[in-house]
Amino acid sequence: MTGPAKLIDTERFAARLRARAIDIESGRILISRLTGSGQEIDLTLPANCNGYGRVRHFRLATADGWPQNPLPIAPACRALGLAAVPELMTALVFQNAACAWRCWYCFVPEELLKADVNRSEWFTAADLVGLYQQIPDAPRIIDLSGGSPDLVPEWTPWMMRALMNAGLHETTYLWTDDNLSTTYLFDAVSREDLNLLRSYRNYGRVCCIKGFDASSFTFNTRAAPRGYDRQFEVLHQLLKLGLDLYGYVTLTSPNTDGVTQGVADLLDRLQAIEPNFPLRMVPLRIQVFTPVEQRLTRDIERERSLAVQEEAIAAWTDEIVRRFSPELRARPIYDVPLDRRDTWS
Ligand code: SF4
Repeated sequence: MTGPAKLIDTERFAARLRARAIDIESGRILISRLTGSGQEIDLTLPANCNGYGRVRHFRLATADGWPQNPLPIAPACRALGLAAVPELMTALVFQNAACAWRCWYCFVPEELLKADVNRSEWFTAADLVGLYQQIPDAPRIIDLSGGSPDLVPEWTPWMMRALMNAGLHETTYLWTDDNLSTTYLFDAVSREDLNLLRSYRNYGRVCCIKGFDASSFTFNTRAAPRGYDRQFEVLHQLLKLGLDLYGYVTLTSPNTDGVTQGVADLLDRLQAIEPNFPLRMVPLRIQVFTPVEQRLTRDIERERSLAVQEEAIAAWTDEIVRRFSPELRARPIYDVPLDRRDTWS
């Protein structure tokens, strides 16, 4: 008989990975090599940037019963001065090679999450911008993804400077993912760099809430449940910083009981931090990619959670209608006011 799997101690594991995934002195980040990786099979286009970048297709359309996903298309169009919001936009994605969590539905294989120098390479932000410049007809969105970019938060201001040095800061839109797993942004990044994050015009940051209660969080990430609360603490700090902030949420849970209440509690919690923030969030439907598929065949509970997310999205949609006026709900996502934003000092 096997005992329960050991849960991830996020603080310890994140610290270990951070030490291996960033070289502060020479301004370098460990970037995953996609060519030859287990992720390659899921790419619609071959990896670019010598195997370290990929083109991602962002689409407004989602599945039946799920809201449209305007991220990052709508904020990018607004920043870039594009009048019409297209159905589809491409982004160039770089993935940092570390993440402290192990979400069962992650489309990035574990081998690209453990800061393995045999499957990644060190790059400065200027190197990455140089690779971007070599792409013919390059996407206007650059997405710093992971992995978990919040383990190496210096990456974003470094990229901003490199884009400014290359004269690309107005013609590109920088989009970064944040798993809300650590407070390194506030612990390790200089005030000057935080100010750059605050003032860089073509920038949006998306934070992902993993689950609608501590139990679904742990089920999704394999991390100790304390990480659930921590997500909201980090989100609160980010909102105070005054960034152009958005959110994703994943609604998979192994428990078929209490789904509606769990979703309502999540919305209460978000609104206690920032009343309108739920309108800047997009629930993400978990879909099966190749690495996920392999894991799914081994776990009935995970299959059940895919059905739970359908119940959860119905609850989320009902709550959104009940809590927000039609006028507010009709606004473009970037136009949803954040009343408590920008109280940083
Ligand atoms: S936090 Fe993101 S990158 Fe990390 S395991 Fe989960 S889905 Fe994958």
